[in-house]
Amino acid sequence: MDKLTLTIRKQKNIALIAHDGKKKDLIDWCKNHKEVLSKHFLCGTGTTARMITEATDLPVKGFNSGPLGGDQQVGARVVEGKVDIIIFFSDPLEAQPHDPDVKALLRIAQVYDIPIANNRASADFLITSPYMDEEYNHEVINFQQNIEKRAKKLDKSK
Ligand code: PGA
Repeated sequence: MDKLTLTIRKQKNIALIAHDGKKKDLIDWCKNHKEVLSKHFLCGTGTTARMITEATDLPVKGFNSGPLGGDQQVGARVVEGKVDIIIFFSDPLEAQPHDPDVKALLRIAQVYDIPIANNRASADFLITSPYMDEEYNHEVINFQQNIEKRAKKLDKSK
């Protein structure tokens, strides 16, 4: 089997991230969707998480600040199946010192077929999806098999 069916449970792990120029926007979005968000487990990069909790009282588990590895911590949790959805208000008009980490997070979300919203309209569509209230099955690469195949192939070519 090249693919593996994984289930995103009804109660989801949602990561919240906003670049500085978009933090106000994300906090406002969280206020608008507080009722739905309160039904799920929330986490986020350090500053974003702290500011959302202060403004909304929603519990948001904070990782390191983004430029200090927070985006990579979120990415690692995607790989481990501990983050199901990412709401990432990135700032397209401001250069970021941790741009490689941001790209890495977008890539890993793609690899693991994780819903990810990069702007407010996408986040509105995502959070109002009927899937937010249901289990959702999706297919990802069978990573164990992928390792076995690669190890065999590379061994033969020695
Ligand atoms: P921050 O990180 O929440 O700590 O500001 C966000 C980011 O810039 O990736």
